[in-house]
Amino acid sequence: MPPIKHYYSIVRSTLLEHVPRGHLAAAALISAGLLILIGSSNDSSPQAVSVQSVNIPGLEIQGTETQATPIAIPPVEAIIQEVAAKAETPVAETQTPIGPQWKEFTIQNGDNLSILFKRAGLNDRSIYELFSDAKDAKDLRHIRPGQKMSFLVENGRLTGLKYVINELNSLTFERGNKGFTGKQIALKPDIKYAFRQATIDSSLYMAGKRAGMPSNLTMEMANIFGWDIDFALDIQKGDSFKVMYEEQFLDGKRIGVGKVMAAEFTNGGKTFKAVRYTDKEGNSAYYTPDGRGMHKAFLRTPIEFARISSHFNLARKHPVLHIIRAHKGTDYAAARGTPIRATGNGKVSFAGVKGGYGNVVIIQHGQGIATLYGHMNGFAKGVRNGSRVSQGDVIGYVGSTGLASGPHLHYEFHVNGQVRNPVTVPLPKSIGIEKTEIARFTETTRPLIAKLDQFKSSNRLAIANNSTNSN
Ligand SMILES: [Zn+2]
Repeated sequence: MPPIKHYYSIVRSTLLEHVPRGHLAAAALISAGLLILIGSSNDSSPQAVSVQSVNIPGLEIQGTETQATPIAIPPVEAIIQEVAAKAETPVAETQTPIGPQWKEFTIQNGDNLSILFKRAGLNDRSIYELFSDAKDAKDLRHIRPGQKMSFLVENGRLTGLKYVINELNSLTFERGNKGFTGKQIALKPDIKYAFRQATIDSSLYMAGKRAGMPSNLTMEMANIFGWDIDFALDIQKGDSFKVMYEEQFLDGKRIGVGKVMAAEFTNGGKTFKAVRYTDKEGNSAYYTPDGRGMHKAFLRTPIEFARISSHFNLARKHPVLHIIRAHKGTDYAAARGTPIRATGNGKVSFAGVKGGYGNVVIIQHGQGIATLYGHMNGFAKGVRNGSRVSQGDVIGYVGSTGLASGPHLHYEFHVNGQVRNPVTVPLPKSIGIEKTEIARFTETTRPLIAKLDQFKSSNRLAIANNSTNSN
């Protein structure tokens, strides 16, 4: 890319030639915007590359495939070329066989629109025309290395442009009598279910790898069961899992991995099961087969990785007052300023100073549950009486206000007005399926669970047939 000043002068001169004087101010604004768009695509490109590779995880495991799914994975290049060729057809058909040829370029690191157009023998005037004619052109600001862009140039003029965003999405522009018009092309992949299972020998990650699972699929499964199983501490040799997930196919070729649809995890002899369900409002979540949410309504602790410095004890000798006084909560020692998180969704019923608690936040969570966070150094922005908080939101910071011997969080858990030990109180599961939706839930999820169970009793050959035929 030429130095900014130089580039700007190119755009300016283009404008001066083609824009009536009265429109100069507006055009200058557009050109300034164009500069930013083009510049920004450069800065974000290294990050964008890794995002793209995550989007097509099925392609990462080439060569480590197991026999469970008898589908060969085509090389990335082949897929991109094939998709590009297919999607081009409608535009290409309108050309005479001996007419101008499409020129295809792969976007390189450091490329911007100006460089790409130059490579195709075009100048910035074409970019300007494209951006002023077609509103879809704004998507061209997101170009990433590895993507393809094709140009149709006739007598030095751009007449067609094709930008392949990914295997499923592309954008085409065609010059007509009234300038460029853009068209978004979105191909819908076929979804098939795939199955994997493994017994853990050394680690969950290795077991997943051996079963031919992309690492992000293993992670997703761990997230689903993360409230029932501590994957850092509880995993033992002999634990096992089964997972059924979506695979995306385009013209019979696998292009990526979709969502986990059902899964089962056996940890220390105890089996947990989860199924994905999308409710009437379109929200998707994982549930037990009987419709309880997999994620609990409360975090166990408001601070991550904090040491308990004083346990819940209704007959404790107070460290400051030196008298027997109940300790109605759990103390977590942490450095002053450590963020404190709301353990559940709720409404702040009190945020202020209260006696020995010092700066304290009390949250009402509904169903008779309230939590209290004391000795705070200060409150997080926006936390005040009546404000709504979500699980995991930072509500304040560790301090030693009130009656405290040093910086720590005093955390209380109240059920129907009674204090309970925050470390041992049974935490309610998240709200399950609504009564009015339970029939729909059962109807939708039962076949998924049946498929997962069927996998359990099948031999490998039957599994393979099943995974290719099911849809
Ligand atoms: Zn305390």
